Amino acid sequence: MKPRDIALVAVVLAFVGFIGVQIVRTSPTRAHLAAVATPQGEPVGGDSGSVLDAPPFPAPERDPVDIRLRLQTAGSGTYIEHILDQNDGWLYRWPEQRLDALRVWVQRTSDLPEWSDGWPSSASTAFDEWTAAGFPIRFEQIGDSARARILIRFVGSIGRGNAIGTTDTRVDGNGWIVQATIFIATHDPTGAPMSQELIAGVARHEIGHALGLNHSNDPGHVMYPESRTTRISDMDRNTLHLLYMLPPGKIR
Ligand SMILES: [Zn+2]
Repeated sequence: MKPRDIALVAVVLAFVGFIGVQIVRTSPTRAHLAAVATPQGEPVGGDSGSVLDAPPFPAPERDPVDIRLRLQTAGSGTYIEHILDQNDGWLYRWPEQRLDALRVWVQRTSDLPEWSDGWPSSASTAFDEWTAAGFPIRFEQIGDSARARILIRFVGSIGRGNAIGTTDTRVDGNGWIVQATIFIATHDPTGAPMSQELIAGVARHEIGHALGLNHSNDPGHVMYPESRTTRISDMDRNTLHLLYMLPPGKIR
């Protein structure tokens, strides 16, 4: 990557990060539950239906003593406390015991004038990077967006200032994530078409949000709002591991 590209990634991720936080903060959990959850006992939707028609995930088991112990013993090498600060004491994540695979869909074609056929594969590669970092659920790339839990769409504009990426995460009242949609803009803040490297950088950061991470306060991490790194760090990885050892919901 050329120095100019690295600087551009840093500039752009600043906007991406800001938007990612906004989504969590401006989306009340209870409102999400009302919009997403299906009443108990309602028939399961078929393959042609949306994943949001599926039965709700059961409530997680919660052991306050175990939660406190895990935070004390494993929290120091992570930014989990910073995430709790940003999420008003809540953790959000996927229920790994309930999902054989996390079905993901990446937009493959578009009529947008700046469209590049290389963008989908650049974005998809970021899923492999999170798998290599130890994310506990297998990703399955599918062609039917209605059946996908995580979606990546490319849009001409995010619609908020110079933002070029955002993640709309739907969670239920227990803090389980039920669907996440990532939007990636086709232009960088200078108005130029997105480079492959920038698409990959935005996807890497936004998928982190889609898995339940929020921002770190260290520039060496992918989840830093103005990150200059193109690699998932040990602390990104440790934070993800700890998140998936804890139940979702209000921790403090
Ligand atoms: Zn972010």
